[in-house]
Formats: sequence, structure tokens, C-alpha cells
Amino acid sequence: MNSNLKHLRQIVRIVLFLFLSVPFAAAQFYGDPPDDTHPWAIHDNNRPQPPRVEPGKAPGGAPSDAVILFDGSSESFKKNWTHENSKRKKDWKVQDGALISVGGAGTIKSKAEFADCQLHVEWSAPVKVAGNSQGRGNSGVFLMGQTEVQVLDNYDNPTYPDGFAGSIYGVMPPMANSLNAPGKWQSYDIIFRRPILKDGKVLDDGSVTVLINGVVVQDSTPLEGGGGHRGRSRAKAFPLNGPLKLQDHGNPVRFRNIWYRQLRSRPIEGGTDGKLSPDATKKKRAEIAAKIRKDAATKKGKEKLLRLMESLYYENNAATYAEAVELGEQFVNEVEEKPDGRKGDFMQVNNAVKYLVKHKILPTDHPGIVAMKAVIEENGWNK
Ligand code: MG
Repeated sequence: MNSNLKHLRQIVRIVLFLFLSVPFAAAQFYGDPPDDTHPWAIHDNNRPQPPRVEPGKAPGGAPSDAVILFDGSSESFKKNWTHENSKRKKDWKVQDGALISVGGAGTIKSKAEFADCQLHVEWSAPVKVAGNSQGRGNSGVFLMGQTEVQVLDNYDNPTYPDGFAGSIYGVMPPMANSLNAPGKWQSYDIIFRRPILKDGKVLDDGSVTVLINGVVVQDSTPLEGGGGHRGRSRAKAFPLNGPLKLQDHGNPVRFRNIWYRQLRSRPIEGGTDGKLSPDATKKKRAEIAAKIRKDAATKKGKEKLLRLMESLYYENNAATYAEAVELGEQFVNEVEEKPDGRKGDFMQVNNAVKYLVKHKILPTDHPGIVAMKAVIEENGWNK
């Protein structure tokens, strides 16, 4: 490489590094602080980093945190599934890596019970096309054993739309028919949120999102009670957890690669991401502040001061406030005596103070602010 070009690249890298690292390093005292319904500040570096999940090796592959319900083996079927009908005379078959519905064997249910989830299921309708409407390649994926996402060979087979493949059965037809031909594999990616009721009042309708072969066919569709056959469903409380059920509708539908991942809790059920109730916000803010104070106790000087000041925007704790003021005074005096090489540190603290004033955590006329202003002017740091 030409040496000028090399030099230029180096400069670009340094500039990029400065540009990217400065806002990050100074990210506290940066975005709007927590409020009555949001425990976190905007761009809050105290917020936990998202946990690492290794994605599946191929599209549709189980990510590292998935619970695998069927991996193609007989062992996996035996280990993870049980039968709804204990008097059945037949059983589902595992053949060539697929789990096959056998007429008369009845519905199977996962031993694992869960609720809100991302679910992946692949299925294939019989190559030999038989039957019409609801009688062709019918099975079903029952979320929590309650709500059916229909499995049906609708490749070239009209039926009532709220019973179509990918419908929330009896509630909502899919937006599109993106099925492959019978005999080919179809993928269902489902994101499910159960309805939440309290004292008979619906707090959250619950919802289902479905992608068939990568095409969105349900987009956060409200559950309206959960659906069902013939009757209009009414709002009902779902249990806390339930099994996944696969339907025996008398057709030899094949399944493979079944896994799910649990989703984070909604604020309504104790989750602490997003918009919370004022009580939950206050509690979470106090928890965050305590954690920052604990970290501050391991630090000294300017680092400790900044950490204590930071904790104040989550919770205005009187003892912390007094400690920060004392430490702040020490810091200002120290810099006032020996200002050489301290401009960066001082302006950093000054920015934090300005932030706390702007957001009414410190009063505008606080003596510390007046003292800081004087140091800045004496040293010409405001120019
Ligand atoms: Mg069905």
C-alpha cells in the first residue's frame, strides 16, 4: 500500500476512534434522566448489556438459549413429549428425522410448560394430496395448549380464511398464503404473548405474530380470548404456563426442528424494561442507585464523585447528596490549588454538574457551581 494512503487510513481510524469513544465514555450525564415511569436514562450505560445468544448455524437453527423440543430423534420425542389421550391405541412415529402424526394417536403435548415465547416449528403436508378444505394436511400448533396456529395444506386448497394455514384459528386469517407445495418443508416462526387478565379485566389481550417461510402472516394479532372451533371466543384468563400441543387431525403431517425461547417479561408482569408503573419505577430506580453507590465506594477522587452524582438522578438520597457535595468541594479546592493538567477532569465534572442543574437535581444557585465557575474563569478554560 502507498504510504500516504496508509497514513490517511491511520488518521481516519484515529478520528473515528475519538468520534465513537467520546460520546460513549461521556454517556452518563448525557441523555434525559429517568422519570416517573422510566427507571433508566436515555442512552444509559448502567443498563445491562443484552445477553449474548449464539445464533443457529443455519436459518431456522436453534440459537444457544433455545429449548429444543424435537431434534429429529426418537429419544428427543420420548424425552420431551407426552400424550393427551392415555387410552390411545396408536402413537406418533419418528421416521427420517421427522415426527409424524398418526390418525387415532391423539394430540401430543410437550412436557415443558411455558408461556410467552419465540417458537420455531417446521412441518410438511403429505405429498399424496387427499381431502379438501379442512380435511387436507390438517394439524395444528396449540400455544399453551389453548390457541391454535393452524397447520393445513392450503397450497391449492381453499377453506374458510380464519381456518387457513397460519390463521389464529377462529380469530384471524393469515395476511398471505406463503406456503410451499405439499411434501416440501414449511417453517413457522411464532412470537406469542399470552393474554393477561386481572379480576376479569383484560390488562393485555395477548398477541401472536407468525411468519410462514419468512413471510409475516400475523403481526401482533390480538388474541381476543384465544379462538376455537365454531364459537366466538370471549376474553379469558390463560394459565401462567402451558404445554405446546400438536394436533392429530387424522392426516399424516410431519414435523421437525421444534424449539422455543422464552421472551422477557412485560412490565405488566414484573418486567423492568420499558414503561413501568410509578411504584415499580421508584423501586427500580432505588435499586439502580444502590448499585451505583456500591460501585462508588470502590473508587476515589473524581471517579467517586462522578459516580455519586450519577446515582443522584436515580434516587436523591440525602446522605449521598451530602457526600457528593463534600467530595465536590475537595475536588474544586484541589484543582484550584494545582490547575495544571486538570482542565479535562474539571470540565468533565462541570458538565456533570450542569446536567444535574438542568434536570433540577442540583439547584442553580448551589455554592459549588459558583466556585466552579470561578475556577474556570481564572484559568481561561471557558475560552
Ligand atoms: Mg388444525
